[in-house]
Amino acid sequence: MFGYIYKIYCKNPEIKEHYIGSTINYKRRMRQHKYSSNHIFNNQTNLYDFIRNNGSINNFQSEILLKVMVNEKKDLYEIEKQFIKNDNNLLNKYIPNRNQKEYYFDNYDILKEKRKMKYKKNRDEILHKKSSIMVTCECGSILTKNHIHRHYKTIKHCKYINNINSQQVQSLD
Ligand SMILES: [Zn+2]
Repeated sequence: MFGYIYKIYCKNPEIKEHYIGSTINYKRRMRQHKYSSNHIFNNQTNLYDFIRNNGSINNFQSEILLKVMVNEKKDLYEIEKQFIKNDNNLLNKYIPNRNQKEYYFDNYDILKEKRKMKYKKNRDEILHKKSSIMVTCECGSILTKNHIHRHYKTIKHCKYINNINSQQVQSLD
């Protein structure tokens, strides 16, 4: 398939900032840009804010910088990345083809630290919850849930259990 690298820029030559994008359907992509610039969306806000702040999409034009045969969209993103890298007047918000893996490695330490903190926070919360839950044992003792196993070995509890057992034996007589 054919891929296109394109540029969107202001008709006013004094405004140097521009946007570089890629698409496999140039006409459709331009329609999307036009639509998006007339509606407020969360993605690519740099571009659309810029367009709105400089009149409207009617003050802008687009130009195909490169038409190229590619096997996958991924290949096109790689080419686009090269265009973006060497451009100092860019409105683009993100570098294309920056996949999850790259993101992961770039942010490895931050993510690791975040996970560690989250884990610790959860653990503390769970421990705190566990330790503060009060339960009433069948023997009548009131104790915190995480002490229950220790409690089962106490004389008071064992006496109670023995008592029940002997009562059951008695009732069978
Ligand atoms: Zn008990």
